[in-house]
Amino acid sequence: MGKWGIEGWEWRFIWRRDLFEWEKELIQVLLQELSLIQMNKDAKDRWVWLQEPHGCYTVRSAYGTQLSRRETADGQFYKAIWSSPVPSKVAGLAWKVALQRLPTIDNLAKRGVTVNLNGQGSCAFCRRHDEDNSHVIFTCSFSYGIWMACYNWLKVQTALPMDCITHFEHHGMWGVGGNRKTKWRVI
Ligand SMILES: [Zn+2]
Repeated sequence: MGKWGIEGWEWRFIWRRDLFEWEKELIQVLLQELSLIQMNKDAKDRWVWLQEPHGCYTVRSAYGTQLSRRETADGQFYKAIWSSPVPSKVAGLAWKVALQRLPTIDNLAKRGVTVNLNGQGSCAFCRRHDEDNSHVIFTCSFSYGIWMACYNWLKVQTALPMDCITHFEHHGMWGVGGNRKTKWRVI
């Protein structure tokens, strides 16, 4: 992980595999953030929960932190979607997905529109599962195959988040630099 050198603590990470270029960029960001921390040679290592003044973890505190982070992330998502360099109809689709307002079968049923499925699943792609927002965009075998084909093409290994906003944040994380960030926002 690291050792004390002449100029202080030096981080030395050992990875189980060669890193992708985008991961190397993340390491640089991590090292920049770590450089702001003053290491103390004489202090003993201990866990500290920074969200509480006493430093002790509580579920209540973790829940509050997640909640406020979620609200901020949601606001940033809607702002980012509408300032993204994609055609407005694509931004509109992403916006509808995030708000779960696609005219999926489950949403149509809520509005009293019934569809005769002849005993099959309501998903128009696979006909095996019921069609809802998350299924049609993320978990359907058809949609999942498209996402994975994109990631393979981009040489990225990842798990697919089921939630639209988390999914979007996931892509933002890969694009650290300006132009690259723009490209990931488009995807
Ligand atoms: Zn399906």
